[in-house]
This record gives sequence, structure tokens and C-alpha cells, in this order.
Amino acid sequence: MSDSAQLYEAGIATPPSTPAAAREKSRKPVELGVEEALSRTKLSPYWLDNPAQPPAEPKLTFDTQADLLIVGGGFTGLWAAVQAKEQMPDLDVVVIEAGRVAHGASGRAGGIISTSVMHGLPNAVRVFPNDIKQLEEFGHRNLDGFEETLKRYNIDADIEWNGEMTVAVDPDHVEHLQADYDLHTEYGHNVELLDGKATREQLDSPLFAGALWSRNRSGIVHPAKLAWGLKRAALSLGVRLYEYSPLLEVTDEGQTVFVKTPEGSVRAPRVLFGSGTAKVGIADINRRVLQVRDHVLATEPLTEEQLARIGWKNRQGIYDTRTQLNYFRLTKNNNIIFGGLVSYHFDGDPNPPQDEKRETYYRLAQAFYNTFPQLADVRFSHAWGGPIDYCSRGSVFAKRYLGEKAVFVAGYTGFGVAASRFGAFMGLNLLFDRQSPERDLDIAKLSPTYIPPEPVRWLAAKVTFHAFDGADAEGGWKRAWIKGIKALGFPM
Ligand SMILES: Cc1cc2nc3c(=O)[nH]c(=O)nc-3n(C[C@H](O)[C@H](O)[C@H](O)COP(=O)(O)OP(=O)(O)OC[C@H]3O[C@@H](n4cnc5c(N)ncnc54)[C@H](O)[C@@H]3O)c2cc1C
Repeated sequence: MSDSAQLYEAGIATPPSTPAAAREKSRKPVELGVEEALSRTKLSPYWLDNPAQPPAEPKLTFDTQADLLIVGGGFTGLWAAVQAKEQMPDLDVVVIEAGRVAHGASGRAGGIISTSVMHGLPNAVRVFPNDIKQLEEFGHRNLDGFEETLKRYNIDADIEWNGEMTVAVDPDHVEHLQADYDLHTEYGHNVELLDGKATREQLDSPLFAGALWSRNRSGIVHPAKLAWGLKRAALSLGVRLYEYSPLLEVTDEGQTVFVKTPEGSVRAPRVLFGSGTAKVGIADINRRVLQVRDHVLATEPLTEEQLARIGWKNRQGIYDTRTQLNYFRLTKNNNIIFGGLVSYHFDGDPNPPQDEKRETYYRLAQAFYNTFPQLADVRFSHAWGGPIDYCSRGSVFAKRYLGEKAVFVAGYTGFGVAASRFGAFMGLNLLFDRQSPERDLDIAKLSPTYIPPEPVRWLAAKVTFHAFDGADAEGGWKRAWIKGIKALGFPM
């Protein structure tokens, strides 16, 4: 029996003999179950499994000097390299990347593009309520620059500007959407509030009770293609990029910073760290940023018939309103990317063994089927984990180190696909001590608060993520705990 006949068998011994009968059966997809649906899944990022991945640049195998050293070849590092060369063409810029470009968070992201540089308007209101107008303006200008850069370097990253939609998965959550709608309208966003029926006409799930659809220059992108395009742009501008060249040691030499890699070194008067959650030898960074792992599934490409079962003609990027949030979007080939199962590993382990185990993804797969029971016959092609640089601000910060010769940029807390361009811009302005509007504001002047060290960090994260799991349904101590963590100033 063919694969598809097996899938649609639904307990009937004889396979359908006519096309009409086959169509009839296709309305009742057989439940695969999470184990079966994940049995052939590759445990690696969907985005990186692509022949468009460019070859690696050489390792750094000698001692060199540069005007600017950038550590990290993710979005932050690449945007910094491109902007630095555009602003100062004669600057000698070196980028060192520990592994391959885009193999960190940047090539593992859901790829939903948001206009905000602050992890959304509600978070901006939470953190910097007096600066909203300027922060909004930064978001708009950032996306102008984002789009112009992609055009200038002919970067094709499968972008679709269809907006982002927050869906309420519980009737009680609809009132939050109304509050968000009021806030977004106050600041001139193009938003639409949908009731349950209108939401399900956009994307059909029995869970959806309403939605807020923001069409404000947001949408979806192939994140790895974006990073590879930025890499090409940086190289075309004369940036020297070395892959498989991790920073091992950093030394403040007074006038310069000395960085050692396994087979070489770089000496530079200025360094921009775009190294995300990695430990780069500056203890203060890890007091302010912690690595949370997030997990993602990619389905096999949906057939036209499977896609028709859920609608999604407008192909928005979607977030739901669960405390343990799920986000989802379509790819150009109609795979569904379905993410959102967070975990914490002691001391921010960058390679937790759990990511390599199929069972880690069972709960996420179940959440997928709960959201889309119509797709019970769909398998997952890829599953992966990735690092989230969580900080109390919930959004990017730039901070000086090593006698002001270095600037560290990160803290996107899961919203850095577009905001990383702004992060790099803010970081360069600080590093080169240039006047710029953001430098008059708290976004550039303040840093996120300290997060308690291990083992308190591990314990608090364990309890918090355990609370996430039942908070919506059970309430009780779980909701109270999450409220308490929020009250301490941490975004949830
Ligand atoms: C699962 C997941 C889903 C996400 N979904 C979204 C989304 O839908 N929308 C959104 O806006 N954001 C999303 N994000 C967040 C977004 O991906 C990040 O904010 C963004 O990619 C951060 O870019 P970065 O360059 O700062 O970090 P990274 O991409 O992690 O780059 C840091 C680089 O530094 C390198 N490095 C580390 N240590 C060293 C060293 N010692 N020497 C040299 N190099 C080093 C690493 O190898 C890495 O390549 C998601 C993140 C994850 C993990």
C-alpha cells in the first residue's frame, strides 16, 4: 500500500479504488501520533538544510590587525560589518565566527519580522514608557534601512510582508487583545481586531477565539538566506571574514584589544561583540543575559489539499497568547514552522544533549496537533533547538567594556530578526562615540538588571518553566509564581 493510502486508511481494510473515494477519505486524516510523526525527522534546522548555503570562509591561521574586530557571524555581527563598511569604507573590518555564519540563533529563528526594536509595543511601554514615540520611530527607520539594504545588495530572503497576528487561544485572552489593539491604534499602527469566526477564516484552528492582525510592515523571512545574503554583502564591501575561528581569549592591552583564536590572533582598537549568549570572557555579560533554549519543528511541505484544510491564505506570521507561547508561519514551500517550547540548562549549556533527542519534541508536536487537528496526517521533516539571549529588558541593549574599546550587543529575547540591525547600529554609535538620537535615551544609557547567578538561576528557571506548562489551565501557584517573576521586572 502506498504511503498516502496508509495515512488515510482510517481503519478500512481496502484502499480506495476511485479518486472520488480517495478524496472522501482524505477528509479524515489518520492520526500519526507524535512518535510516528517524528520518527524520520532530521534533528537539525530546516533553514540550514539548503543547497544555497555558501561555502565557509577560511579559518584565521595567522596574526593580524584590524580597525574594527567583530566577534560573531550572526545577524548582529553581519549587520555591524555591513553598516561599518558603508559608513566608513576605509575601515579595515575583521569578523571572526566560532562556527559557520547563521549556525547560531540567526539560522534557527522562526523568521517572523516585527517592526518594533523593543520586542513589541507592550514591552516598550513596560520598559521605557516615556520614550515610546522615539522607539517607534527607530523601529520604522530600522525597517526602512533593512529593506533598502536588501534591495541594494539584491538579497533574496523569501520575504513576505503579510503582517503578524496574535491569536487568542482562550476566550479569556480576548480582552488582552482589545487592550493591545487600543495601544497599537494610539500609536498609529495598522491593526485589525478579529472575532473568533473572522480569525478562523484567516487560519482555521478550533482553539482560536480572536486575533489582532498587525499589518505594520511585518511578516516572514527565510532567516538563513537573510544571513547568507548579508555575508555576501559584507564580503563585497571588503570585510575579512574568518569562519571556524572562535575567540578563545581576550586581553585589554590599553590602546588595543588582543583576541586569540586557535590558530591566529587579531589586535584591534575597537571590538564589537555580536556573540549572543556565548561566554566571551567578560563576566558582566553573563550576569545580564541568560541562555534559554527554544525549540522548533518544521512540517513536511503541505499539499494544496492539506493547506486548504486550514486556510491561511494571507500567510501571516503568528504568535498565540499562551504563557508557554507558540509561534508559527509558512515557508515558501508551505512547510509550517512551529516553534515555542522553552527550556533552561545549567549554566546556559550551549549544546544541551536534549536537543538531539526526539522525545524533546513530543510536547511541541502535540501542541501542533492540538492547534491543527485537521493536519493529523502531517509529519515533521526537521526539529531543532536554538539559543535565546534573554534579559530583563526583553529587548536589545549595547554596553561598553574593556575601557570603552569594546561594545557588547544582544538581549533580543527572541525578537532579533529585524531588531539586530538596530542593535548593530546602536552598538557602532557607542563604539565610535557618535552622536545619534538613541544615545540621548535610556535605551542606550541603561543596561538590563542582573539575573541571579547559578544555582539560583537554574532553580528559578526550572520552577518558572514548570509553571508555564500549566499556568493557563490550572492557575493556582503557577500563575502566582509567574506574576511574581514579572513583578521583579522580568518579561514573561
Ligand atoms: C528558536 C528561535 C526562534 C526565534 N524566532 C524569532 C522570530 O521569529 N523572530 C525574531 O525576530 N527573532 C527570533 N529569534 C531571535 C533571533 O534569532 C535572534 O535575536 C538573532 O538571531 C540574534 O542574532 P545574533 O547575531 O545576536 O546572535 P547569533 O545568531 O546567535 O550569533 C552569534 C554568533 O556568535 C558566534 N560566537 C559565539 N561565541 C563566539 C566566539 N567565542 N568567537 C567567535 N564567534 C562566536 C556564534 O557561533 C554565533 O554564530 C529566534 C531565536 C531562536 C533561537
